[in-house]
Amino acid sequence: MPYPVQCACGTVKAELETTGHEIHCVCYCKDCQAFAHFLRKPETILDASGGTEVIQTSSANLRFTDGLLHVACMRLSANGMLRWYANCCHTPIGNTMANSKIAFVGLFRQVLATSGDRLDETFGDVSCRCNGQSAIGEPKPKDHGILKALVRLGSMILKNRINGRYRQSPFFHNGMPVAEPLILSNAQRQALTKLD
Ligand SMILES: [Zn+2]
Ligand SMILES: [Zn+2]
Repeated sequence: MPYPVQCACGTVKAELETTGHEIHCVCYCKDCQAFAHFLRKPETILDASGGTEVIQTSSANLRFTDGLLHVACMRLSANGMLRWYANCCHTPIGNTMANSKIAFVGLFRQVLATSGDRLDETFGDVSCRCNGQSAIGEPKPKDHGILKALVRLGSMILKNRINGRYRQSPFFHNGMPVAEPLILSNAQRQALTKLD
């Protein structure tokens, strides 16, 4: 049965096909923190150390079923990742690369937990913590599981590239993002990173 995905207000809905190969990850980097501030929801997105919790999987496993018009996209810089969110209620959806052939998405806890919190049950405990040196406060969380996550992610990306499944990503159409990314200026980005 597909795992239900939806924004906080229920306008954007999607289904996630689970595989058992997802990576449950917490990232403490400044960019992820800046995105939470961009959405003006740092208190609901970030944990006490400024961590963002995501489930990484192949983007071809996700399918929007409603509200695609409210799926918006931003980049913290011209070369940044594509950060997807529901613009109806500012719920973060996921992060993808700008190149549609690198087909993975890090789906946010917030978009996966609206129908009851089954994250650990479905995707296992957090297996990777990264960028702990950028965490807020002390002690800094220790990074772990990064190499294993990279190997898993790499093989997922390669498989999708070879079998052409990357074309099924709901975030791209003919290699172009389905929503025009809003690209922040340096000043706009810096203003967000100073907010914590
Ligand atoms: Zn919404
Ligand atoms: Zn990050």
